[in-house]
Amino acid sequence: MIMLVLEYKLVAKEPQERRIAEAIRTTQFIRNKALRLWMDTGARQYDLNKYCAVLAKEYAFANALNSQARQAAAERAAYGIGRYLKADKGGKRLKKPKFQKDNRSVEYKTTGWKLSADRKRITFTDGIGIGEVKLMGSKSPQQDLCAYELSLIKRVRIVSKADMFFVQFCIDADRSEPTELTGKMLGLDMGLASFYTDSDGQKVDCPKFLRKAEKQLKREQRRLSRKKKGSSNRRKARVKVSRRHLKVSRQRKDFAVKAARCVVKSNDFVALEDLKVRNLVRNRHLAKSIHDASWSLFGNWLLYYGFVFGKPVVKVPPAYTSQDCCVCGTRVRKSLSERTHVCQCGCILDRDENAAKNILRLGLATVSETYPGAQGNVEASSSETLVESAPLLSAHAE
Ligand SMILES: [Zn+2]
Repeated sequence: MIMLVLEYKLVAKEPQERRIAEAIRTTQFIRNKALRLWMDTGARQYDLNKYCAVLAKEYAFANALNSQARQAAAERAAYGIGRYLKADKGGKRLKKPKFQKDNRSVEYKTTGWKLSADRKRITFTDGIGIGEVKLMGSKSPQQDLCAYELSLIKRVRIVSKADMFFVQFCIDADRSEPTELTGKMLGLDMGLASFYTDSDGQKVDCPKFLRKAEKQLKREQRRLSRKKKGSSNRRKARVKVSRRHLKVSRQRKDFAVKAARCVVKSNDFVALEDLKVRNLVRNRHLAKSIHDASWSLFGNWLLYYGFVFGKPVVKVPPAYTSQDCCVCGTRVRKSLSERTHVCQCGCILDRDENAAKNILRLGLATVSETYPGAQGNVEASSSETLVESAPLLSAHAE
């Protein structure tokens, strides 16, 4: 099953945070108890599941936790045991699962929680007594969550990270959404001035707040490196940097997800550069940039949504895409500072738009036999083209 994970910062009052910590402790207790049962009796998963009810009868605090959350805790033990046994059978050596001391999360399934109508708040309704908490993301995080039916939310996790709590919604993305063909195709050129330029000449910029946050992070990282080792100031600065880092990576992901979803939804075919190859063929010092992280994230999400929406998303080798004329194919050499493509055939275009048009053409050339009407990801008909689907999904799936 492919799971899409949407993460929000959880805003709670202090007593609520204590209840959350209690839920996390209880999860660890049940997991460890289940593990103990297996060690003592060789119990199977079915027994471990039943054991949850036994524990609930025996311990009031275990009883307070939602029954499915108890099951999920026992499943963690079962998962570890299963992996161990499988490796053992295969002749591989894997350490026996251990008792956990540093658990940081509690997992609910489809009960024990309720989302508010606007999906900005979630209420945990079991006996642990966490109650209603606020969900915070970037500018319009609710949009993401609102896009999915409640029945697709399979798990809700509370995770503690960097002294904060987050709520993760695991959404069943294993179904492709109905495909609406739009009759449009798009090539994308990733750039420094704009985040990308498409083959229609439209430029999309990296959001300002993200650029600002990235700059701040860099500054704080420099400050941290100047602090004396082992000092309390350094410790404080480290917490600050790790928080900022979390925030930036969440914002970056938010942006990548939304932009990619939008691009794939509104086009039937998308071609982009293969960035791994691009780093080799293009100027090295340009490649060394924070944009790299955002680009590859964006590329992965494009492939992901291509899979979800059943539309071909194709990567092409970037060689000469900015040099060649998209109309007549003549190679027009230009330096990095030349922002306009001027060809003898009369074609005058923005440099990046010309590149995006070439990228689209290259992408189409590789799938012309299978497009249109292609379902799912397209097999590359040329060995030069890289169509990646499943391997990349694993980066965001579990
Ligand atoms: Zn030309």
